[in-house]
Amino acid sequence: MPSYKAPVRDARFIINEVLDIGSRSDLPGFGAASPDLVATVLEESGKFAAEVVAPLNLPGDQAGCVRAADGSVTTPPGFKEAYAKFVEAGWGTLSQPEAFGGQGLPHVLGFAFEEFLSSANQSFAMYPGLANGAVSAILAKGSPEQQATYLPKMISGEWLGTMNLTEPQCGTDLGLIRTKAEPQADGSHAITGTKIFISAGDHDLTENIIHLVLARLPDAPGGTKGISLFIVPKVLVNADGSLGERNAVSCGAIEHKMGIHANATCVMNYDGAKGWLVGEPNKGLAAMFIMMNAARLGVGIQGLSQAEVAYQNGVAYALERRQGRALAGPAEPGEKADLLFVHPDVRRMLMEAKAFTEGMRALALWGGLLVDLAHAAQTEEERQQADDLLGLLTPVIKGYGTDKGYETATAMQQIWGGHGFIVENGMEQFVRDARITMIYEGANGVQAMDLVGRKLPANMGRAIQLFFAAVDKECAAAKDDARLAELAGRVEKANAELKAATMWLMQNAMAKPDNAGAGAHHYMHITGIVALGLMWLRMGRTAAAALDAGTEDKAFYEAKLATGRFFGERVTPDAGALRRKLEAGADAVMALPAEAFATA
Ligand SMILES: Cc1cc2nc3c(=O)[nH]c(=O)nc-3n(C[C@H](O)[C@H](O)[C@H](O)COP(=O)(O)OP(=O)(O)OC[C@H]3O[C@@H](n4cnc5c(N)ncnc54)[C@H](O)[C@@H]3O)c2cc1C
Repeated sequence: MPSYKAPVRDARFIINEVLDIGSRSDLPGFGAASPDLVATVLEESGKFAAEVVAPLNLPGDQAGCVRAADGSVTTPPGFKEAYAKFVEAGWGTLSQPEAFGGQGLPHVLGFAFEEFLSSANQSFAMYPGLANGAVSAILAKGSPEQQATYLPKMISGEWLGTMNLTEPQCGTDLGLIRTKAEPQADGSHAITGTKIFISAGDHDLTENIIHLVLARLPDAPGGTKGISLFIVPKVLVNADGSLGERNAVSCGAIEHKMGIHANATCVMNYDGAKGWLVGEPNKGLAAMFIMMNAARLGVGIQGLSQAEVAYQNGVAYALERRQGRALAGPAEPGEKADLLFVHPDVRRMLMEAKAFTEGMRALALWGGLLVDLAHAAQTEEERQQADDLLGLLTPVIKGYGTDKGYETATAMQQIWGGHGFIVENGMEQFVRDARITMIYEGANGVQAMDLVGRKLPANMGRAIQLFFAAVDKECAAAKDDARLAELAGRVEKANAELKAATMWLMQNAMAKPDNAGAGAHHYMHITGIVALGLMWLRMGRTAAAALDAGTEDKAFYEAKLATGRFFGERVTPDAGALRRKLEAGADAVMALPAEAFATA
C-alpha cells in the first residue's frame, strides 16, 4: 500500500516566505491569512487528505463506481462518509466568497489544498473540483436569482456540480455541439441531447447535482457562435429552496477507463430536461471558458499531485530496497547490497522529480496569487498585469504541468522496477490516473496552441513581454549572490532561448500557421522551463536570505539551493534543444501524404 503525507512544510515555505502573502493585507481575505493561520490550514487540511481520503485511493480504484439498473450511481465504499466529513469540516469553502458562505481566504490556500486532496485521491478530489469550476461560471455569469438559488449549497458542498461540453461527435471542436435547448413558456428551456465523458455526472455523494450544459437555441448560428450555457439541476429546486421533482436527466452508462476509476465518468442523457439560461444567448462559450480556465489550473495541479505522491513513494522505496553496489565501492559493507538510493541513475530520477514538484508547486501557487491579484489588486495596472500573466501561464500550468507530472509518475514507477508494475503496490495507479490530465480540459496540444495562437499575440505580446521582464529582473537580482549566480545565468540563457523562439514564431508563423502548430508543444515546454527557473530563483533568494538570517532549519534551505542548482544544470539546457526543434519549422512534420504512413 503506497503512503502519502501532505508537503505542508514546502507549501508553507512558498506561501508564507516566497510569495509572502502576509505582506499583501491590501487584498481582500489576505488580512486574515496570517502566517500562523496559513500554517494551521495547511497542517489540518493535509491531515484530512492523508488520513481520511488517501486510504480510499487504492481500494476505490479497484472497486470503481457502479451504475444500477435505474441509472443511479454509487461511489466506492467509504467515499460517501469521507465526503460528508469534507463538507462538515468546510474544506470546500476555503477560498470561496463570503457572500455565499465561503471563508474568503486567498486562492493560494485553496490551491494548496487542491494539491493535497488530489495527491491523496485524484478521483475523490474531482467531485468537489468539478463543482468549483461550475461555481466560478455561476459567480461570473449567473443572475442574482441563480446565484442565490445554487451558490450557497454548492459552496458548502451540500450539492456538487458538473460541466457538460463533450458529445460523441464533438470533443475539442465545440462548434460541433448538437444538444438542443427549446424555450418554454415558463422561461425555462427543454434540454435534449447526449453528453459523454461527464466527470462526476452522477453519484451518491450529494442529494443534488447542478449540471452546467452547453446547448443550442433553435435560431442559433452554427459553430461556436451559437452555443449557450444552461443550468440543469438533477433535482429541481422549489421557490423556497427545497428540493422538488427529479429532472429529466440521467446517467446512461459509466465509461470503463484506464484510470480514475473511482470518479464516475458518465454518458448523460438529457430528455427534455428543464434548464435555465446562464448569461446571454449564444455567449455560452465565453461563460464556459471562465469555468474551463479555473478547471485548467486545477488540472495542472492534478499533474503535480500525481508526481508528488509518486515521488514520495519513489523516495521511500529507494531508501528501503537493496540491489547492487555503489559504483565507487560498497556504501554499507555490512549489508549484502546497497540501497537503490546510491545509484546515480536512481538519484537522477529522484532529483528530476524533486526539482519538478517543488518548482511546479511554486508556479501553481503563484498562479493562485495571480487569481486574487487579477480580481482584487488595488490598482488597475496591477490587476491587468496579474490577468495578463495568469492568462499566459494557464496553458503552461495545465500543459507543461501535466506532461511533466505524468513523466515524473512514470519515472517513480521505474524506481520500483518490476514491483512498480504490480497493482497492489499502487505505483501503476499513479501513472494511470495521471494520464488523463494530459487529455481532458483541452488536450495538451490544444493548450500549446492556446499559448502560441492566442496568448502570445494578444495585446501585441503584452503578456509575454511582462513575463520576460519578470525573469530578467529576477536573474539580475540573483546574480550578485554567489550561491545563485550560476542558476541565474542558466535561467537567463533559457529566457534568451524563449525570446528567440518567440521572435522566430512572429516572423514565421503568420505567413505559415503550420509553423506555429508544429512548434507549439516545444514552445509551451520552453516556457514551462523558464517559468520553473523563475520559481527556483525566487525560492533560492528566499532560502539564501533565511540562511543569512541564521535559520534553525538549515537543511531545508540548503536543499532548496542544491535543488535549484540541479534544475539549472540539468533542466534549463533543454530550452536550447527545444528551440532548435521549433525553428526547424513545419516542413518535415507535414511533408508526407496520408498513404506514406501505412506500414502494411
Ligand atoms: C475521463 C474523462 C473525463 C472527462 N470529463 C469531462 C467532463 O467532465 N466534461 C466534458 O465536457 N468533457 C469531459 N471529458 C472529455 C475531454 O475533455 C475530451 O476527451 C477532450 O476535450 C478531447 O476531446 P476528444 O476526446 O473528442 O478528442 P479529439 O477532439 O477527437 O482530439 C483527439 C486528439 O487530437 C488532437 N487535436 C484535436 N484537435 C486539435 C487541435 N485543434 N490542435 C491540436 N491538436 C488537436 C489532440 O492531441 C487530441 O488529444 C472527459 C474525458 C475523459 C476521458
